Amino acid sequence: MTGLGRVHSVGLNAFAADIIEIQANISSGLPGVTITGSVDGALREGKDRVRAAITNSELKFPETKVTIALAPASLPKQGPGFDLPLAVAVLIAAKQASTSRLDGTVMLGELALDGRLRPVRGVLPLLLAARDAGFERAVVPLANVAEATLVSGLDVGGAQTLSDVVRWMSGDVVLDTVDGEPVAPPAAVVPDMADVAGQAAARQALEIAAAGAHHLLMTGPPGIGKTMLASRLPGILPPLGQEESLEVTAIHSIAGTLPEHHPLITAPPFVAPHHSAGMTALLGGGTGMARPGSVSRAHRGVLFLDECAEMGPKVLDSLRQPLEEGLVRISRRDGTAVYPARFQLILAANPCPCAPAHDVDCVCTSVQRRRYLGRLSGPLMDRIDLRVRMEPPANSALMTEAGESSAVMAARVAQARSAARERWSSDQWLTNAEVPGSALRQRYRPSLAALAPVEQALRHGRITARGADRALRVAWTIADLRGADQPEADDVVSALMYRDRGGQL
Ligand SMILES: [Zn+2]
Repeated sequence: MTGLGRVHSVGLNAFAADIIEIQANISSGLPGVTITGSVDGALREGKDRVRAAITNSELKFPETKVTIALAPASLPKQGPGFDLPLAVAVLIAAKQASTSRLDGTVMLGELALDGRLRPVRGVLPLLLAARDAGFERAVVPLANVAEATLVSGLDVGGAQTLSDVVRWMSGDVVLDTVDGEPVAPPAAVVPDMADVAGQAAARQALEIAAAGAHHLLMTGPPGIGKTMLASRLPGILPPLGQEESLEVTAIHSIAGTLPEHHPLITAPPFVAPHHSAGMTALLGGGTGMARPGSVSRAHRGVLFLDECAEMGPKVLDSLRQPLEEGLVRISRRDGTAVYPARFQLILAANPCPCAPAHDVDCVCTSVQRRRYLGRLSGPLMDRIDLRVRMEPPANSALMTEAGESSAVMAARVAQARSAARERWSSDQWLTNAEVPGSALRQRYRPSLAALAPVEQALRHGRITARGADRALRVAWTIADLRGADQPEADDVVSALMYRDRGGQL
């Protein structure tokens, strides 16, 4: 018996997806399966899964020579997602499946030994690429149907088993679909800002950070409310736009962190890795395909590093590249994997290693104290726009100062963000944090009076040129929050103060 089967699928290479053609050829010769075309270990093991799945689906695996090729050969192909198209290509070559529905169809899915289909990662970016390449239909594991349906303009069918797919190909059954618009998950319960008493300066810094997507450092003794404030930030950030939603969902799909039934992420992610997290967890990587790390899972949202001075200086320094470029480059044996990583960095640190509740109880030497926060100094700190040193509130403040609620702050943040988005719309910047320094100094230069405080700080060597740009960005946000057209001298002075505060760094 001889025959040829051809099925289309899609493969991921970090954040890029490519159409892959899978060919199975059956010819006379000794029984055995050969796979060619730059495939990884998981795919090689796939031939055993495919053989078992076919046999256990009451179909027949050909008892002759089977050659499987994945094209284009030059692209690396990874993971178990090619099991289903591989099995179908073999069945077509063995004349056990019809080809009538293959035109314009892509298939994805991992096979269990008993023929059931298991969900795969990255369905959203994979199918967006398939649609853009002109495919009209996708067959995916049932557990991936809700996510696959996020791709508009593509007919999606979900199957539970390999035999479901074979029977669908001959027109015997209809595959499962999801009706209606995709539903966002119920909003996560975020604690309210009203719970935070006192700390007016830190609350205001957090509001400015939210409104302009600026990076923020909070220092202060343990228990002062740094973590409390940071964990409330998602409650005052505006929801993601439609395109941002899809982009963020695609990253979490590859990371394997999407909920099955509500796959669309519409709220800015809040990612808080532990201070013991290593380079791979933070930036991405791992064996096989490079997985997105915390910096990418926080894309268009918040990366919160609590007790950040406990992180190694090397780990902290590795954040500079993604902070600068809005994407992360992960070096691999076979090249560089690139993922989006435009996040808002919120840092919290104790002022010293012994971390007492009251500064007077500190037992550290002055050298220890300097060294501790010194880990944060230099080029990384130059990228932090806002710094606050938090002090224990007076007892009377705890009794009387009820904080504003998240809803009130969120309304001001939303108004400031939309003012900024409108102003920068012709340049496609979404937030003040994204505006390049050259634009701040030339096309969008504030009045000479407003610029004076920055020029003075520069002249006295209190800030670097990069620091001056950062102060201007924050000044724009402060102006947006009070509904002004452009920053005035007072806004610039406030912005400079936020750079200096907590500033024994
Ligand atoms: Zn101490």
